[in-house]
Amino acid sequence: MTKVLVLGAGQLARMMDLAGSPLNLDITAFDPRTNNVVHPIANEYTLGSLEQGINNADVITAEFEHLAHDVLEQCQASGKLLPSSKAIKIGGDRRLEKDLLESCHVANAKHKIIANYDDFTAALGELSLPIIFKSALEGYDGKGQWRLKSMAQAETIWSEMEEFIKQAKTSVPQAIVAEQMVPFDREVSIVGARNSKGEVAVYPITENHHTDGVLSVSLALPVEDALQQQAFEVFSKLTQALDYVGILAIEFFQVGDSLLVNEIAPRVHNSGHWTQQGADTCQFENHLRAICNMPLGNTELIRPTAMVNILGEDSVPEAILAIAGVSIHWYGKEKRAGRKMGHINVSGNNGIELATKLGQLGEILDTGAYPDLAEFAAKLTRKVSA
Ligand code: ATP
Ligand code: MG
Repeated sequence: MTKVLVLGAGQLARMMDLAGSPLNLDITAFDPRTNNVVHPIANEYTLGSLEQGINNADVITAEFEHLAHDVLEQCQASGKLLPSSKAIKIGGDRRLEKDLLESCHVANAKHKIIANYDDFTAALGELSLPIIFKSALEGYDGKGQWRLKSMAQAETIWSEMEEFIKQAKTSVPQAIVAEQMVPFDREVSIVGARNSKGEVAVYPITENHHTDGVLSVSLALPVEDALQQQAFEVFSKLTQALDYVGILAIEFFQVGDSLLVNEIAPRVHNSGHWTQQGADTCQFENHLRAICNMPLGNTELIRPTAMVNILGEDSVPEAILAIAGVSIHWYGKEKRAGRKMGHINVSGNNGIELATKLGQLGEILDTGAYPDLAEFAAKLTRKVSA
């Protein structure tokens, strides 16, 4: 039985465990909040220290890129960590991420790194409004971001960011990445796996919708070849540069027919949850297959599927389960405003069927908690019937 230790004990480790059991994998999770190794589903079962977890594991991986560097070094030194600590650190630091994109000649938004006020004024000179400022470290779900739409806000935003940099308790100095706002037509992402033999399997790109900076809906439909190819090329370049093993997700802005990278995630990704029922092999299983040196599973889209995030709610009307092709995945987390609590997957045999089912979901679910769903279903109906 191969033993896998996951760094991070959230929903992604939980879903890896659910996908790993049929493969006879023994999955444990390191909870960085308590420094204990725990059961990925029954988190209250403590299984020992990180050191014990490392010794006990055959393979170590991560569900989370914002890990303390000493933890990453310790795991890297064991020779068991996949992807490497380097890849994980790049995913957790927007400065390193930008360096990687530049060195691989991958298109991304014009940007400038800011550590002090001089850098800030230089950025205002080099970039045009609107500008988005993002914390270099520890940013996720739209946290640690400021948007500058008019010069009148500049000084206020700077004092907030200056305070933010000063207050940082990170092991590497905190900074801000200023980025040109991209007038994108839509946001898409590619999720794919690479194993140690260099074999690659990518899922079709998905279209992603955000509400207040947080992913709310991902949509997997048949994709145009040229666009898929473009995303695939970026995936190949980045994974080769990093000698990457595991699932890597890449978020893009689509402008016309071109893709610009927004950011990468060195792990299974929220925009890949649809693969649990829209593909033969889900991203969690493919990640485990990749890091455990097994053949990669089929990543084709077998039926159009959407994923709807459950944000800040700990229940939904059970009536949604009466819609064929709907399933719920709860994460067993304590309710908190805006928190990712679970997700709903919904599939149809074709785009029209999927749009109809999303419309039915939109009617049953609370419009306050799922503001975009009805509009989303209507838009999809127009798109697939055109
Ligand atoms: P997540 O963890 O959800 O991926 P994050 O905190 O890592 O989010 P980003 O993905 O960088 O942050 O930004 C969140 C969202 O803000 C993006 O999905 C996009 O909608 C918007 N956004 C970020 N950068 C830009 C940009 N340069 N131009 C336009 N919109 C942007
Ligand atoms: Mg993002």
